[in-house]
Amino acid sequence: MARFKEAKQPLLFRAFGVIWSLSKFTFWLFIALVLLIKLSETGQSAKFKAAGENPDFKQIADLLDAGHEAPALAFTKQLLASSTAFSSLERCWLLQTQGEIYLKRRHHHLAREAADSCLALDIADNHRYEVLQWRNDIQQRIDSHQPERYLFKSYVNLRESGFAKQMQGEIVVLYIYLEDNLWQGWSGAQRYMMQQYMEQATLWYQQQAQVFQQPPPKFDVHYYYVQTGRGISANWLRSEQFFADAAPLLLEQMGFRSWQQMHNLMTGNGKKQLAVIFHSNLEARSFASSCPKQSTDCKIEYVMLTEESLVANRWLVPQVQAHEMAHLFGAADLYNISAAKDYASTDLMNYLSAELQYAEIAPITAWAIGWGPKPTAPFELEE
Ligand SMILES: [Zn+2]
Repeated sequence: MARFKEAKQPLLFRAFGVIWSLSKFTFWLFIALVLLIKLSETGQSAKFKAAGENPDFKQIADLLDAGHEAPALAFTKQLLASSTAFSSLERCWLLQTQGEIYLKRRHHHLAREAADSCLALDIADNHRYEVLQWRNDIQQRIDSHQPERYLFKSYVNLRESGFAKQMQGEIVVLYIYLEDNLWQGWSGAQRYMMQQYMEQATLWYQQQAQVFQQPPPKFDVHYYYVQTGRGISANWLRSEQFFADAAPLLLEQMGFRSWQQMHNLMTGNGKKQLAVIFHSNLEARSFASSCPKQSTDCKIEYVMLTEESLVANRWLVPQVQAHEMAHLFGAADLYNISAAKDYASTDLMNYLSAELQYAEIAPITAWAIGWGPKPTAPFELEE
């Protein structure tokens, strides 16, 4: 009877049963997932939670959760500098927090310093092991960003050469988009984007000048658009022929007869500085063609921006613009000097930061562009 009854149980009923048990299963699965996510969240921010109930530390964690890294960093510095009796564990927590912020900014050396400061404290062995692992990881990151580190031994500055001498006073910038009728072109949107990046770069220089108690330079950027009438190739851009070909086209567009006339009129007979930037969106490497030291008649000085960064690495563009401009004003690269590996590590000529706003001008570059005295360096500064 019962069997019969069971057999007679309507299909719909059984389906409900299946759905109910399925939904029970889904429900528990959901709960398990939520728990897992919560667990992994606490795992992720374990470093930031180690500090217990201290309200200052809670404030730092809250700032970080809200994405306010700059004030969080400033607060950790303030707490570490204050003589409050923090335990080694707490000091280490503050240092690790700093280190994580530095890593996000790609300031690996500063993160490594934070790790070292933590390791110098009296901390438990298991904690020490964890921090050591972290430090090794940071060191590996530093070592893996050195493609040209061992090319040079000394710093060949080009201070006060050419017609972009020091980054001071009024600076006229000619920003020239290169285009051919074949492969290389610029859309209005791309040019607008480059203009925005250039505004970031000039603003950044003005802020950096203040760090060195310099009156901020004034930039007057003029944009031009030159069609070369021939195919743009990396070889041509790097050749001497390039300037011979491109300069007349630019002068024609600007309405000048000669480079000298253009220079005199644009700079008020040399009262202002002149910086010339060509930009081709060819996939090649940017470079600066600077005047040799002590040259008196050198007029061919310009930056060539040729970055693939338009597509994949937009974040790089303002840093490349600012980096190459520094060359025009006399700064040399630091990324290819062996003894500069651990020197001026946030300087724009040495390492890339996550964004231009985090990059800095170190005293050596400041000296080269006319903002400060000659610093000491772990390598020769050629005069
Ligand atoms: Zn360079």
